[in-house]
Amino acid sequence: MTSASANQVVRLHETGGPEVLRVETLPIPQPGKGEVLLRQVALGVNFIDTYFRSGLYKFPTLPAIPGMEGAGIVEAVGEGVTTLKPGARVAYAGVLGAYAHYRTIAADRLVELPESISFELAAGIMLRGLSAHMLLRQVYNVKKGDPILVYAAAGGVGQLMCQWGKHLGAHVIGVTSSPEKAEIIRACGAADVIVGTDELPEQVRRITNGAMVPVVYDSVGRDTFETSLNCLAPRGLMVSYGNASGPVENFNVAALSAHGSLYLTRPTLMTYIAKPQDLQASAKALFEVLAKGILKPTIGQHFALAEAAQAHEALEGRKTTGSTILTL
Ligand code: NDP
Repeated sequence: MTSASANQVVRLHETGGPEVLRVETLPIPQPGKGEVLLRQVALGVNFIDTYFRSGLYKFPTLPAIPGMEGAGIVEAVGEGVTTLKPGARVAYAGVLGAYAHYRTIAADRLVELPESISFELAAGIMLRGLSAHMLLRQVYNVKKGDPILVYAAAGGVGQLMCQWGKHLGAHVIGVTSSPEKAEIIRACGAADVIVGTDELPEQVRRITNGAMVPVVYDSVGRDTFETSLNCLAPRGLMVSYGNASGPVENFNVAALSAHGSLYLTRPTLMTYIAKPQDLQASAKALFEVLAKGILKPTIGQHFALAEAAQAHEALEGRKTTGSTILTL
């Protein structure tokens, strides 16, 4: 068991703007049955953290510790844990309570890290990389030659989608808000980049010689949903997987028929890694493409734990590229 007694965390007592994130000191928790105590080294800051903080997504109870991704060292194991020992290097994605030096977590939510993957890299790619795997291999199985439309392509998930999509043989069309980000997206392997969304369907029509795309990966939500439907080929798949501009509301199902017998899915990574064996299989696939150099993740921003509010401001202000992490 650790000799430290205090646990610095970032917690919120009510939802709201970044200012609700408070640095607090709590006791170090004890691992229960099936759990381990983790000494965290690096944490991921993901856009989903801002949805929980703002109240768009609900914490089970308040006060709550936000954050869903981290990497560190197993400090102690609880009753019944046989798969991990103290000292194991591990990481996780999709489990609330990350913004802390120490946390407890169910052992079957952890993935052991290969020596080649540093804690910082793990904190930058677990949630985003597993999401890219889900989107490109499971939600829609990208095939050689597919033109695919990827929003926020310079972001954490977006850069990995460009690199992995190119490797799968897709013609990646990235969408972003600035020429500077467009350069980053090209360097990640996108064949085309569109800056701004005003004439997106027309640009997609030009790039695809009128065919449009079989799949749109839309993480922006409210502002782009209708535009995305206009970019799809008949019987194409609309993947609405985020709400960066706000949630999509009042959706009229008939729009799917009007745009050409479209399919719509609203996936969440949590479903795709809910079973421990699915989590392990997806992590294995992710670590393989990392080891082969197919993914070259960028940690664009490092913050201290106490700077979590600044990290949220940067993410929501569209000022980040690649992954954002907190180092402890
Ligand atoms: P990003 O690094 O991609 O940051 C978000 C980006 O969204 C911004 O940089 C910006 O890029 C773009 N954006 C577009 N409109 C807005 C807006 N109104 N306000 C702020 N940003 C906007 O974040 P992540 O990689 O953490 O996540 C990307 C998306 O994927 C998020 O929407 C997230 O919710 C979603 N996601 C969903 C998962 C799921 O299971 N469904 C799992 C993981 C992520 P630009 O300036 O280039 O437009």
